[in-house]
Amino acid sequence: MKKTIRDFDLNNKKVIIRCDFNVPIKEGKIIDDNRIKESLATINYALENGAKLILLSHLGRIKEETDKEKNSLAPVAIRLSELLNKEVKFSHVTHGEELENLVNNLQSGEVLLMENTRYEDVPGKKESGNDPELGAYWASLGEIFINDAFGTAHRAHASNVGIASHLPSGLGFLVEKEVNALEVLKDNNHPFVVILGGSKVQDKIGVIENLVTKADKIMIGGGMAYTFLKAKGINIGKSILDEENIDFCKKILEKYSDKIVLPVDNVVTEEYSNAVPYRTIPVDQINENEMGLDIGEETVKLFSETLENAKMVFWNGPLGVYEFSNFTKGTEKLLEKLVNINAITILGGGDIVAAASKLGYKDKVSHASTGGGVTLEFMEGKELPGVVSIQDK
Ligand code: ADP
Ligand code: MG
Repeated sequence: MKKTIRDFDLNNKKVIIRCDFNVPIKEGKIIDDNRIKESLATINYALENGAKLILLSHLGRIKEETDKEKNSLAPVAIRLSELLNKEVKFSHVTHGEELENLVNNLQSGEVLLMENTRYEDVPGKKESGNDPELGAYWASLGEIFINDAFGTAHRAHASNVGIASHLPSGLGFLVEKEVNALEVLKDNNHPFVVILGGSKVQDKIGVIENLVTKADKIMIGGGMAYTFLKAKGINIGKSILDEENIDFCKKILEKYSDKIVLPVDNVVTEEYSNAVPYRTIPVDQINENEMGLDIGEETVKLFSETLENAKMVFWNGPLGVYEFSNFTKGTEKLLEKLVNINAITILGGGDIVAAASKLGYKDKVSHASTGGGVTLEFMEGKELPGVVSIQDK
């Protein structure tokens, strides 16, 4: 068992919490603040218990100097302050005097957010490369370290794994909640049904190989389905194809023919656009100049029947291009079915959770994970460095 934030006396202590504030920002505006809201439980607990709070997070990727401005955490400081109804101090730098002064002047119950940890990636990839000196430096700013960033728990970076090796450490409530919710999937609740969508087979090979042995049925939709259909010898027109993985799909189909459920019809169009005509046809009738961007009604029916008796469902990846209103219906209809069956229902992955949130189903499933890649790695059975590095009880 890992220590959690509950195992520490936080009063008057400088507590560093690694949060996951990696939210989508466009033109300086936060588009979806779900991850900030999900971090409030831990932050509020620490404040109520008298901590001097130092919050760290990454945002986006920093490859060169010019990436810094658009990936600043400054908008997050503002939003967080609104949500906490409290001043959030902000350090514009990730090391040096300004940061150290702000830390040393913190009073019990006050909050400081440091600028994007990945500012340390240029130069030298110090954050993403888990530079030992950087981890030790950040740790020197505090007395207790809490990791509450589930979204990066599958990565060993200076701001999670690096710091953890220098301080008494524990998990925050969000990581605890995520891990417990996903652990449930390891229980033997059958029928266990998996829904997989999204665009590329390549991204999901590990999950498919792992889940196919545990699940009773795997329904495959979205762009991924076309590589499987191609592997069956079906002409898929201009639909998205993962050429290199046709053989992989063939093998999976042969070995697990009784488990894999593929679409029987789909919504096709001639351009990747929401502004051109579209039609629903059986999957084996796609013309050369057409591409499939959503599952059709017959497939929704077939997938719904497969869900009917499920006791546990894990869903990753939308079943169509949900960003376009013309191709959202398959995902929407199946979400509607999902929340009306008597089963443990778990959504994992950035896009399926975004789709569920947009369509109003996010709060109706058993668990919608804030993680993307981390959920998949967890499902593959891999250990999460961000969790492993935390002290045992
Ligand atoms: P998640 O974030 O849930 O893991 P992915 O990132 O794997 O999901 O996939 C999401 C993307 O897959 C979306 O951008 C969506 O538009 C795309 N997609 C879904 N169906 C299709 C399709 N038929 N053709 C092309 N892209 C698709
Ligand atoms: Mg995604």
